[in-house]
Amino acid sequence: MGSRDNTQDEVPGGTTRVLLHTCCAPCSGAIIEWMTLNGITPVIYYCNPNIYPIEEYLVRKEECNRYASSLGLEIIDADYDHTAWMCCIKGLENEPERGARCLECFRMRLLNAARYASEHGFTVFTSTLDSSRWKRHDQIVEAGRWAAAQFPGLTFWERNWRQGGLQERRSQIIREQGFYNQRYCGCEFSMNAMCDDKKQSRQRIRRLISVMTPEQKATQSAAVWERMERNETFRNATDILIYWSMEDEVQTPAFIRKWTAAGKSFYLPSIQGDELIVKRYTGSGSLKPGEQFGIPEPDGEQVNDLNPITLVIVPGRAFDSMGHRLGRGRGFYDRLLPQLPRALKAGVCFDCQKLPSVPVDGNDIKMDFVI
Ligand code: SF4
Repeated sequence: MGSRDNTQDEVPGGTTRVLLHTCCAPCSGAIIEWMTLNGITPVIYYCNPNIYPIEEYLVRKEECNRYASSLGLEIIDADYDHTAWMCCIKGLENEPERGARCLECFRMRLLNAARYASEHGFTVFTSTLDSSRWKRHDQIVEAGRWAAAQFPGLTFWERNWRQGGLQERRSQIIREQGFYNQRYCGCEFSMNAMCDDKKQSRQRIRRLISVMTPEQKATQSAAVWERMERNETFRNATDILIYWSMEDEVQTPAFIRKWTAAGKSFYLPSIQGDELIVKRYTGSGSLKPGEQFGIPEPDGEQVNDLNPITLVIVPGRAFDSMGHRLGRGRGFYDRLLPQLPRALKAGVCFDCQKLPSVPVDGNDIKMDFVI
């Protein structure tokens, strides 16, 4: 638990009502606690259109909501408009982290916070951005002052939120609360700095998919299959190995039924011990739950001649643009795919499963393309 100190007179104008722009729960915990212990009631303003993909944004927001609710604090949910954010940083995409792009990013988010503060009777606002040692204090102060200057009577509270023991308390609260372990600053350009191992990547992706609604999964699945249908390899293939989807994968049943009716032959994997074998799909009525995970599998015979199959559509936990694939960790596909030397391999996934780079080792089979 943090402690009270006598710095309340630092608050500009001595107000006890402060709008706190919040970037994420890990950066906010110690600041919110310090404020409440020192008689200040922060209203939390969550405005982070920089975060990509939207599932990452939703997970970070969910963590903030959880923490604010546990303390009985009001949280204002600003819009997520990543397109508008991209316009703001246009031309600065290749700037390094802590460079000119970050200053524009701070200006946009703090301008939104300042506008809200001004319109809702606050005289002081500040930001949790400053609690991260990966961000530049001088840039945050510059952006905060500039944003405040647009609205008469508003002050940006420039307190350095890394000092006074708050950095240490920040780490303690992250552990105590078990906050989601975000691995990069937020935008797509900062994702390259992420260096997760396989376990961390799988955990992160599982959490991102957990915030997708069934409608979002259906929409993104439909978009994947539209792209697949335009693909020449798919159009030319008559025999295709695909998978029957689980709830957290790009949905396949409607696609399989549609193209079976159009004359293509599909095959599905079936788990036998530690291996995948291949069986012919003959209609959903012939599927039965598999032994290990309950995934529907054909109940027919194993297909031994895999030569007719010219396309394999492969699910995964994550893919990168080089075609590297991160599976679920059991190596099923890495053992099956070498048995299909004639087939091109197509990885399919939701947007949040596409990473700048995927941790791989020598056993991981690369995809020929990712859709
Ligand atoms: S690295 Fe972070 S602060 Fe910089 S532009 Fe990206 S999200 Fe904004």
